Amino acid sequence: MLVVVARRLIDGTGGRPLDWPAVVVDDAGRLAYVGPRLTLPPLPPTTRRLDLGGLTLLPGIIDAHVHLVFDGGPDPVGALATQDDATLLRAMAERATRMLCSGVTTARDCGARGALAQQLQRAIASGAVCGPRLIVSGAPLTTPNGHCHYLGGVTGRGVAAVRAAALRQLAAGVDWVKLMVSGGRITPGSDATRLQFDEPEVRAAADAAHAAGRRLAAHAHATASIAAAVAAGADSIEHCTWLGPDDTIAYDPAVAAQMAERSIYACPTTHLRFREVNSRRGAGWLEARLTTIGRMHAAGVPIAFGTDCGIPHVPHDRWAEGIVWLEHAGLSPVAALHAATGAAARCLGLSTEVGTLTVGKRADLIAVEGDPARTLAALGPVRWVMQGGTIRVGERAA
Ligand SMILES: [Zn+2]
Repeated sequence: MLVVVARRLIDGTGGRPLDWPAVVVDDAGRLAYVGPRLTLPPLPPTTRRLDLGGLTLLPGIIDAHVHLVFDGGPDPVGALATQDDATLLRAMAERATRMLCSGVTTARDCGARGALAQQLQRAIASGAVCGPRLIVSGAPLTTPNGHCHYLGGVTGRGVAAVRAAALRQLAAGVDWVKLMVSGGRITPGSDATRLQFDEPEVRAAADAAHAAGRRLAAHAHATASIAAAVAAGADSIEHCTWLGPDDTIAYDPAVAAQMAERSIYACPTTHLRFREVNSRRGAGWLEARLTTIGRMHAAGVPIAFGTDCGIPHVPHDRWAEGIVWLEHAGLSPVAALHAATGAAARCLGLSTEVGTLTVGKRADLIAVEGDPARTLAALGPVRWVMQGGTIRVGERAA
């Protein structure tokens, strides 16, 4: 057994921080006590103790939208094309280790080449590779020459073709089917304002996933694609950009209300370069984009944090800036941290295991400098990382 004490604790539920906390981790790597130091129950004399001083304890970060096949360099798609599967898998493992060391203890890979994400998932689960607990979506389903076609998930149009493609991914072991409902920006010739699949096709993918007890992630920039995905039963809307046909922001409160009512998650993919990527679109764009995130949150749409790391100039170990953007969008600091912990866990179907510092869950926790409950601008460097009771970064117990 191990008892960890620190200056404060944010438990990932969205509730108030706790001053002078203690956390007890049992020998199975689960949380046995989370609460004030003063009410710590008597512990066996063999219990080890770790004092993290002035640090703040948080649940391990959950990044609900990552791409381990992309390198986060200037040209991830070009770099990918030059690598065979064995080389790529080694690079993915190295990125996963960097993510874990930065404090990301769980992640959903939202699109990889072939079945490489499943291979990495198995390697991490077996302990052969250190990395975040991985939830995977395999190769994203897309149209010929459609967004991310080079990852291998090309399907023809029509309900039967999409259903067959979804079943192939499910047979290959994915946790989520990922469907590129709209076009995207990093694929030449693809149009983010247009639908790649219509509502019956999205429903075919959603039904196939649900029948297998799994979920559908809909990549959807265009407002029409968000509406189609919501109507068709998608479980999460990736990017959720609310792009109108004229390529301006066109938020639809009626669709957002359906997302709130049915607990369909928005994963707005905020990241290190959110300002650059959005400001490029012209004056006022960044503010309009942030406003849509704030409006969704205010309307009760559950938000899962994701960085889209791996895309150009967004490395895998820089999640903090992405959460700060959620605060700029109007979420309180603890609500933004909830999106990256408890809410993301619920989105991924892992809420009984991880996401909050709750007795019985796995001991995934990190410690940062500063007081992020006051403002996320105070979110300091990650000094300590524990995953499933194993200390990955920082001080060991005495
Ligand atoms: Zn993505």
